[in-house]
Amino acid sequence: MSNAQEKVINEINEKDIKFVRLQFVDIHGTPKNISVSLGKGEDIEELFEDGMLFDGSSVDGFVEIHESDLLLRPDAETFSSLPWRPEESGVARLICDIYTPEGKPFAGDPRSILKKTLEKLEAKGLSYNVGPEPEFFIIDQDVEGNYFPIDQGGYFDVEPTDLGTDFRRQLVTDLEKLGFNPEGSHHEVAPGQNEIAIKFDNALKTADAVITFKQAIKAIVDTMGYQATFMPKPFFGENGSGMHCHQSLFKGNENLFSDENSPDGLSQKSKYFVGGILKHASALSAVCAPTINSYKRLVPGYEAPVYKAYGLKNRSALIRIPAARGKATRIEYRCPDPTCNPYLAFAAMLEAGLDGVENKIDPGAPVEQNIYKMSEEELAKSGIETIPSSLWEAYHALEEDPIIKNALGDHIYNAFLELKKAEWDDYRIQVFGYEQRKYMSI
Ligand code: GLU
Ligand code: MG
Ligand code: MG
Repeated sequence: MSNAQEKVINEINEKDIKFVRLQFVDIHGTPKNISVSLGKGEDIEELFEDGMLFDGSSVDGFVEIHESDLLLRPDAETFSSLPWRPEESGVARLICDIYTPEGKPFAGDPRSILKKTLEKLEAKGLSYNVGPEPEFFIIDQDVEGNYFPIDQGGYFDVEPTDLGTDFRRQLVTDLEKLGFNPEGSHHEVAPGQNEIAIKFDNALKTADAVITFKQAIKAIVDTMGYQATFMPKPFFGENGSGMHCHQSLFKGNENLFSDENSPDGLSQKSKYFVGGILKHASALSAVCAPTINSYKRLVPGYEAPVYKAYGLKNRSALIRIPAARGKATRIEYRCPDPTCNPYLAFAAMLEAGLDGVENKIDPGAPVEQNIYKMSEEELAKSGIETIPSSLWEAYHALEEDPIIKNALGDHIYNAFLELKKAEWDDYRIQVFGYEQRKYMSI
């Protein structure tokens, strides 16, 4: 029994914890769990020892019905009680890795994919940090079922215009109890829109944190009688919700993106990493902005990226390099939105960046103009291309990109592509109110 496992057992014995949820995510990054009630035959020691078998055939992207058994193995480091559940007969959760019944890591488990990618990096003494900024709306529904944002607040507004303050206070307190590090939280640009940044950490811890943050946000907003949505573009004409990802590579304590002796304080490695992300930007979109609705956010004029370029202060570019230097040097990739599966998105982003570093891909000079306002001629002259404008374009780009395909592994790549094709086919045959209004009179 490891130290972490012993700590879990002690904590369960000390606190009034009745239920332990064994949690994982499906291919979309949707959390799934089975709750084990302690004292009713299930022993936590036994769980650590043997894991728990479950039917994987009903989980999106997992296995076929004729090979349905999979094994959950709890990661003791992820243990925490859930503060939004009752204290009496409390609930805790353990994030699990998934194995085949033969004991091999299951190739369809998104967490295993990220772990494998990070292990390759760790073998070289390096680590990869991500600091995501999930945005979301707090919404309500009128009697006819129409959605509307709960307030009319804007960027950094205060109460009473901002109706999210109490909720964010509760959330930050709960997340800290869970052992996570919420950074700044604030009202975002659009009515009802909020952001809670997650302090950067090792990519695996951060991906676990994204899942937990989203779950906590939804659960806490629900207790307040409203609904939280991570839909990337819930309202036409308003800013959408992104999940920008700040990223850096470290060797021990040294930030490899920083170079005090270069004029801009940035290392050559950081530039090559940017070069890699730009090179693979189209295929990355499929993984980082994976829904039909994602592409309604990625349009000019709403602080969301459209063009394959990087800038230092430029929020119209795909990648921004914030002003912080030294240990805090990082690049901010702005395409991801909170519907992505963070395990897959981080694995793909890392492989794209590493391709840049290994093959010395030069991203050229930063672009500091407002790219939304550049003419077609200016864009063509600067060689600035656009990222995909639809899920269709994005998954076709993924089919053509061996580095990003490899980052997902065969199992997940094939399942992902099949699901995305079906999602697109389902969408393209619908007839929407917009079309009826526009064409019915013809
Ligand atoms: N909401 C914007 C987006 O869709 C980003 C706003 C910001 O810079 O935080 O990416
Ligand atoms: Mg923001
Ligand atoms: Mg940002």
